[in-house]
Amino acid sequence: MSGDGALVLFSGGQDSTVCLAWALERFQRVETVGFSYDQRHSVELTQRRIVRDSIPDIFPHWADRLGSDHEIALTELGRISETALTRSTEIAMTEAGLPSTFVPGRNLLFLVYAAAIAYRRGIGTLVAGMCETDYSGYPDCRADAIHAQQKAIALGFDREFAIETPLMHVDKAGAWAMADALGGAPLVDLIREDTHTCYLGDRTHRHDWGWGCGECPACRLRARGWETWKAGKP
Ligand code: ZN
Repeated sequence: MSGDGALVLFSGGQDSTVCLAWALERFQRVETVGFSYDQRHSVELTQRRIVRDSIPDIFPHWADRLGSDHEIALTELGRISETALTRSTEIAMTEAGLPSTFVPGRNLLFLVYAAAIAYRRGIGTLVAGMCETDYSGYPDCRADAIHAQQKAIALGFDREFAIETPLMHVDKAGAWAMADALGGAPLVDLIREDTHTCYLGDRTHRHDWGWGCGECPACRLRARGWETWKAGKP
C-alpha cells in the first residue's frame, strides 16, 4: 500500500475502469485524468463522468480514496491526426497494418500531460491501461515504449515517476476476470452498463458485454473477451 497517491489515465472505457479499480485497491489517494481531442463522439467523456460518479456509491470503501478529476482538452491532436476517431473516415486497416483509429503518439502525449499534472499534485505513480496483448498494433502501448518513456520523464522532470500498466500482459478475457477479482459482480456490471469502448460511439445496441455497435474492432475485442471469460468461469 502506497501513501503516495496515483493518477489514473481514465477514459471511461473498460480497460481504464479496471485500472482505476486496481489503483483504488492499492493507493490511499487516487486522482483521474481524461483527455478530449475532437473525438468523433463525446460519448467517452460523458460515460467517464458517469462511471466516476458511480464508484463512491457502489464501492463505499473506495469513496475516501477517490480524489480530483482532471479533464484536459488536446484539440490540436485531433487537428493533426487524419484518423477515423477524429475525421469522418471509415475505420479500416492502414497499409502500416494499424487500424485507422490510431492517433500517432497519442499515448506518449497522454503520459507526458499526466506526468505534468502528477508533478503539480505531488503524485508519484501514473496508472494507465496500455496493453500489448490486444493492443491492435499501437506501438506506443508496448512495454518497451512505456519503459523508455518512464526513463525520459524521470530525466525531463528530474523526478522519478512509476508508470504502472496493470493490463500490459492481460488479454480482454483477463481484464474481465480482473474486474471480477477487484470489485466482483458490481464492478463487472458497472463496466457492462456504463463504460464505453465502441469506436463509433454507439449506445443504442445493448449486448451481454455492454453497449456498442458490435462490429467495430473495439466492440469485437470486447465481445470476444467477454465470451472467453464467461466460457472459462466455473
Ligand atoms: Zn463498436
